[in-house]
Amino acid sequence: MALLDTTTWHGMIFSDGWTEAAGGTMAAMSPATRQEIGRVGVGNADDVTRACVRAAQAQRDWAATSYLERAAVLRRAGQLFEQYADDIGGWLIREAGSVPPKAEVETTTAAQECYEAATLPSHPTGEILASGQPRLSLARRLPVGVVGVIAPFNFPLILSIRSIAPALALGNAVVFKPDPRTAVCGGVSIARIFQEAGLPDGLLHVLPGGADVGEALIADPRVRVVSFTGSTAAGRKVGEAAARHLKRAHLELGGNSALIVLDDADLDLAVSAGAWGSFLHQGQICMATGRHLVHERIADRYVEQLAAKADHLPVGDPATAQVALGPIIDEHQRDKIHSLVTASVGSGARLAAGGTYEELFYRPTVLADATPTTPAFAQEVFGPVAPVATFADLDEAVALAGDTEYGLSLGILSRDVMKAMALADRIPSGIVHINDQTVDDEAVAPFGGVGVSGTGSRFGGPAANIEAFTETQWLTMQGDISRFPF
Ligand code: NAD
Repeated sequence: MALLDTTTWHGMIFSDGWTEAAGGTMAAMSPATRQEIGRVGVGNADDVTRACVRAAQAQRDWAATSYLERAAVLRRAGQLFEQYADDIGGWLIREAGSVPPKAEVETTTAAQECYEAATLPSHPTGEILASGQPRLSLARRLPVGVVGVIAPFNFPLILSIRSIAPALALGNAVVFKPDPRTAVCGGVSIARIFQEAGLPDGLLHVLPGGADVGEALIADPRVRVVSFTGSTAAGRKVGEAAARHLKRAHLELGGNSALIVLDDADLDLAVSAGAWGSFLHQGQICMATGRHLVHERIADRYVEQLAAKADHLPVGDPATAQVALGPIIDEHQRDKIHSLVTASVGSGARLAAGGTYEELFYRPTVLADATPTTPAFAQEVFGPVAPVATFADLDEAVALAGDTEYGLSLGILSRDVMKAMALADRIPSGIVHINDQTVDDEAVAPFGGVGVSGTGSRFGGPAANIEAFTETQWLTMQGDISRFPF
């Protein structure tokens, strides 16, 4: 039987097994065909409360479960992501509009996230401290209890499993709210994997829903840590609500990342890197190359070649045709993209390619002569749009690259890596790639942004995950009770 056989989960949420939701059901839609392709349960505030109560109960036993068993569940989950990659990949293509290589990156990375998480239960849990008293003084790491995870639609698998897997591995329970637009590929699939991997009941709850479900999750007193990935606007609200309830929130937010192309870079390779950075997954990536900064000596040729490439990239339904770009997730996102492109042209940018759409299929777009006030250059577009600005010298490149509130990723292309390194040192960014474009992720790498791209918290690697999903306890132990002056 396929992992995602609909008879298992049709119209249900995963909360202590598959169950009917108080919030009812909703359609899972294909953005390419606008057809209903499944039906999922949708959570509401009552479902959140029930899930959190049950998660808090189940977490106590799980934290006491042998580290060997917790690691084994995570390893099995990783194997299942590999075994069912085609099944899950099919939903990533149909429901999220992913092209097959992007879907494969998601399932491969999801497996890797689970394998990395499987190393966490056997990790040392603390340190023996110096003490002025004759006693054992320890700093040890304990699970936080219940972790709330909220994820966006664009990489629905990676951006949720990167929190769910380490949180579970470290002895927590998880209540997870996927984006309703990707509730099957980024929600049901994860529930089914952990069900098959033998995760004990009650530890993972998957409640698709909108902002109201997210707000209820943050407010629930049993949730001690919130792991949020999404827009800066929603992240601010999540951060404010978490602060009100005095709980930690890890916020991974938007970006408007620059790719700096120096005049000594190989032009063909630079154009290919730039196209990939801006057009992969229709540009719906937090680390997408949102600003191309190209040395004025090569800028005309760069724009010409990038526009020619954009004009030749096939756009269509990735479920039925071999295409480079699939659909935008919905009309709202498409209209936002188009209004930014239109406003950019209105403010003086030159449309070198694209700028048109049919239904949810937006043509890859190149905007030449962009300046810091060009709307598609100044703001995160989250669409397949490559605005190109020029610079005359390195100081100008630094000023342009740094002229943003965001600070997620930065790419620098040059044959002189030391020059690129010196440039990187001058531009604030959570991630820097020299001789690569801005989009990349690995389960072992500390992922996160500065500025309004997030709180600078990190996912990836044992240090970041232990910091994110445990809390420190100071514990002392001595043989006899101390004598006090009174
Ligand atoms: P969004 O912020 O609208 O939604 C993200 C998730 O948050 C969804 O599940 C949504 O239902 C939920 N949500 C929205 N408002 C909420 C609230 N007030 N309380 C609780 N939950 C709430 O984001 P989007 O527009 O769908 O996704 C794209 C954005 O996400 C872009 O800005 C992109 O850069 C960002 N993103 C960041 C990263 C990263 O790792 N830094 C990765 C992917 C996407």
